[in-house]
Amino acid sequence: MTTIAARATDILARLGVDPARHTGGSMASFSPVTGEQVAALTPDSAATTDAAIARAGAAFLDWRLLPGPRRGELVRLLGEELRGAKPDLGTLVSIEAGKSTSEGLGEVQEMIDICDFAVGLSRQLYGLTMTTERPGHRMMETWHPLGVVGIISAFNFPVAVWSWNAAIALVCGNALLWKPSEKTPLTALACQAVLARAMARFGEAPAHLSQVLIGRADVGAALVAHRGVALISATGSTRMGRQVGPAVAARFGRSILELGGNNAGIVCPSADLDMALRAIAFGAMGTAGQRCTTMRRLFVHESVHDALLPRLRRAYASVSIGNPLETQALVGPLIDGAAFAAMQAALEAARAAGGTVQGGERVMVGSDAAYYARPALVEMPAQVGPVLEETFAPILYVMKYSDFEDVLQKHNEVGAGLSSSIFTTDLREMEIFLSAAGSDCGIANVNIGTSGSEVGGAFGGEKETGGGRESGSDAWKAYMRRATNTINYSGALPLAQGVVFDIE
Ligand code: NAD
Repeated sequence: MTTIAARATDILARLGVDPARHTGGSMASFSPVTGEQVAALTPDSAATTDAAIARAGAAFLDWRLLPGPRRGELVRLLGEELRGAKPDLGTLVSIEAGKSTSEGLGEVQEMIDICDFAVGLSRQLYGLTMTTERPGHRMMETWHPLGVVGIISAFNFPVAVWSWNAAIALVCGNALLWKPSEKTPLTALACQAVLARAMARFGEAPAHLSQVLIGRADVGAALVAHRGVALISATGSTRMGRQVGPAVAARFGRSILELGGNNAGIVCPSADLDMALRAIAFGAMGTAGQRCTTMRRLFVHESVHDALLPRLRRAYASVSIGNPLETQALVGPLIDGAAFAAMQAALEAARAAGGTVQGGERVMVGSDAAYYARPALVEMPAQVGPVLEETFAPILYVMKYSDFEDVLQKHNEVGAGLSSSIFTTDLREMEIFLSAAGSDCGIANVNIGTSGSEVGGAFGGEKETGGGRESGSDAWKAYMRRATNTINYSGALPLAQGVVFDIE
């Protein structure tokens, strides 16, 4: 029988990863699918991290001089390589993050999509031209490459988050340093190898344009502290963001923070309940509740509560749970035993606060070392205790509501502000939810769930989610620096605001 470790090794070899990078080291990594060890990596030290930052700085000096559309050509080639590597990379995502085959492949598709987006963007890094108050003058803004971009990523989107940052940062003229989650280092090495293939075909990229740093929080912290890293794009828990944000700000660096979510759905009296049911099931149970955009809270109007809840209970009782590499199960494993323990602690707190818990128990799939759980549906009397926090596991807290204004207030009461959705066919409710008086989140959806966004939109959230935006729309601006240029083509020197400063 092929072990998961052997499958991972085969994939890494096919993608061209040097075995020395994932064997013989002191940092073990495990597959949540079976709990078995899949690699032993050598973490970077303070000295190797410093050296990598210096190399990235040198690569930036060359890369920034290439025209944007040429930089786009490298990203086009990366997209091509990713298309070829999709089955292998998707399987590796399932091995390391425990995602279903479909979700693993979907993550790689997202990488391909953002490459396509970034190629077009490479010809559209527009600045504005403004009218000036001075005759014979022209004023414009120019967007320049920023520097070294440090990417710190979470385990649950081990490749897509890198690509959102990498594809955009590369066309913007920056060099990359990636510190992936210590729980998913192999997918990072694989992406780096795929990019290396694209770079070899491209021919003009400086040698250390992209590097991967292996390690835990301390390696991330070294990147965060270093003045040689112009932008830190950090994805992970709000706890991590509370450390990273102030540390980058203290050196006047730039940061994009993509942190935790506590996302809610509201089911209104006029909702299409069939549609809502499917959207809630995917949003709350998909990826075993381990998406930043997972639906964690659900407010159901009292008039449809008794129609929806029995159907939701049935969906929770019957959803398939199993090994994502061997079955078509919709729910795979939690990342590790600590995640399972956190789930149990939250359910205990919910019971203590008067909640009724269905599901949540451990499901034995294969080995003792893997942690599978039945998603939990928790009917709560009020939004209290664990409902106010993100627990990174499949728990959906359901609450009844009667008044629309009141539910909007409850919706916005939590610390996080990432994603939200409303299920309604009432135009007024829909518009109010999307208005300034509605959802306070970075993502607000109507009649779709909270998760599963596309690359074309800017992704991110407010409040304790950190305020950063990545991926589409004008998120690229965070990866460049803006210069305002005023050009005087007249023969005089008029001063702005009519100031007079005549010298002899
Ligand atoms: P985590 O915070 O434990 O780790 C994330 C990354 O940060 C890892 O690479 C880790 O090594 C690094 N890190 C931790 N402390 C650090 C520090 N002080 N300095 C520098 N680096 C540090 O998160 P996780 O468990 O891997 O991922 C789950 C969390 O990520 C959830 O809270 C989820 O909501 C969030 N998340 C957010 C988004 C988003 O776009 N908003 C996307 C995915 C995941």
